[in-house]
Order: sequence, then structure tokens, then C-alpha cells
Amino acid sequence: FEIKATELKKVGDLGRGAYGVVESMIHQPTGTIMAVKRIESSVNDESQKRMLVELHACMKSDCCPQMVRFYGAMYREGDVWLCMEVMDISLDKFYRRAFFHKIKIPEYFLAKLGLTVVEGLNFMKEQMNLMHRDVKPSNILLNSGGQLKICDFGISGHLTNSVAKTVGAGCKPYMPPERIDGDSKMAYDVRADVWSLGITMIEVATGTHPYAKWKTPFDQLKQVVGSPSPRLPDGFSEQFNHFVNRCLEKDYNRRPKYPELLANPFLEQARHRVPDFSMSGYVRSCKCSRWAVSLSHAFENAQLEKL
Ligand code: ADP
Ligand code: MG
Repeated sequence: FEIKATELKKVGDLGRGAYGVVESMIHQPTGTIMAVKRIESSVNDESQKRMLVELHACMKSDCCPQMVRFYGAMYREGDVWLCMEVMDISLDKFYRRAFFHKIKIPEYFLAKLGLTVVEGLNFMKEQMNLMHRDVKPSNILLNSGGQLKICDFGISGHLTNSVAKTVGAGCKPYMPPERIDGDSKMAYDVRADVWSLGITMIEVATGTHPYAKWKTPFDQLKQVVGSPSPRLPDGFSEQFNHFVNRCLEKDYNRRPKYPELLANPFLEQARHRVPDFSMSGYVRSCKCSRWAVSLSHAFENAQLEKL
């Protein structure tokens, strides 16, 4: 069905990012609750147009279970509204909450995370010849049904082309060395997303971004280029270490693409469901129902700033 902006009514807030807000809205004719991302009009027209074209390609990806469903895009008051499936919590909030409550995130979950992202990105590469360009914990969402899904596919490519913009937005670096250091016209490939996945895995496993300890964003970026790849601290399995280290090969020529990663032994455990360790139980135990998310949101952000 075709969605019109006038048929949408705001229900609540889901979050705020560098380019606008995400709100939950009800699509009145169908009663469907959606997450609506409103990208403020500061983004120039040309890139808005290109973004819409790519997003329509993403709509065809409905059959990909690892991707958040995309319902449609429209203009409203000069802004672009992106309507997508509403999820319960993003992985950045999820892991912070887990660490706050001293819950250790099990490797089973991390393997499930790795498998989901690799399968989803592989699908998009194979079917649409698209890469994500903005893999990070806040673009991986969970629902209380225990599903993990990737969102914001292809959006960031139009919004954060330059390193300077990323730094300006106060983002943590998920970019690989070749995107920071390379010729700006260099056609980096899917292995850039593989690097970002490696950083994401360390961050979720340890509760800290591996480049968190630098004074300025530019120092962080220099660090990505100038220092050895981040590593997991002690206390994780050999298989998990191996998976992360492969994702974080500094030289992208040596970094694996998806077919090789899909065969990585670490992901194997996520292919078999362990009956008494269901993901949904784990997500529910962290109180990921929607009300809890919105209720604790303000509190949580305040809490985080103190950490
Ligand atoms: P970022 O990804 O950089 O945090 P976004 O504008 O993409 O910025 O999203 C802001 C926040 O909104 C996210 O951190 C996430 O918690 C929340 N969010 C985004 N999309 C959804 C969705 N489909 N369902 C539920 N929450 C969402
Ligand atoms: Mg996002």
C-alpha cells in the first residue's frame, strides 16, 4: 500500500540521530505502527533524490529477514520521511543497558549478531549490489520476538560522504583505514562494512568502543589509520577472537568478503537454536518492551552521560 504523510499520526519518540528524529507513528488507515525517520531539509536536494532512488531499491528487499522492513519514503514540509518497521531497541542502548545491569552478553548472542549482519549485508550485495556504509550498533535493532535486523541501509552514503561530516556529527569511528586515508574517489568496497562490523562486535562484547579514549575526533581517526587494529581483551573464546581479527584486517586486501565470513567457525553456533537459550527470552529479560524503552529513555541518556 501507498502511504501518505497525512495518514500518519505521531505516537511517541524513538530516538534522535545526527540528521533528525525517529518517531513512532500510526498509519491510520491500516492501524500499523511504524518508525518514521524525519531527515531535516538541510540535506541538499540532489542527494535527497539519489537517496530516494536507492531506498526504492531497498523496498524490494522485503524478502530479506535480516533487514528492517521498509514501507516507503515521502516528502513532507521539505523533509524526507522514511517509514519502516518499528523495533523495540537498538543495539547501542541494549548493550549499555546490559552492562549497566552487569549482564554479560553471551557469545551465543554475539555469534547471532555476526551471522545476522553478515547474512543481511551479503543478501544486499548479491541481490542489489549495494553496500551499507554505516554499520554500527545503533543501526542494528532488536525486537522482543528476539529478532535482530539491520536498518538505515544506503541512507548514510548520501548523508555522510565525507570524513569531516562524520567528525562534525560527533560520531565514533566505525570507518576502516582505507576510507579515512584513501583517495576520496577510491571505490572502497563491502570490506569497509566488514571492518565496521568488527568494531561493532568489540563494542557490544566489551561495552566500550575500542577507539573511545582519544581526545578529539580527529585524533581518533588518526588512530584508526596509524595504530594496529583493535583487539578483544582477554576472556573471550579463540573462535570469537579469530572472527573479530579477520574483520579487522587493516589491509582491506587481506580482509574477507561475505562468502568467506559465512564459513567462519564462530558463526556456526548461531545456526543451531539452543532450546533453553532462546534469544527472545534473553531480550525480554532485559525488559525490551516498547514502553520500557521510551520510559527509561530520558533517564538512560542522563545515566549514560555520567558513565
Ligand atoms: P543513529 O542511528 O545514528 O543513532 P538515527 O537517526 O538513525 O541515528 O536513529 C536514532 C535512534 O532511533 C536510534 O539510535 C534508534 O535507537 C532509534 N530507531 C531508529 N530506527 C528505529 C526503528 N525502526 N525502530 C525503533 N527504534 C528506532
Ligand atoms: Mg540509524
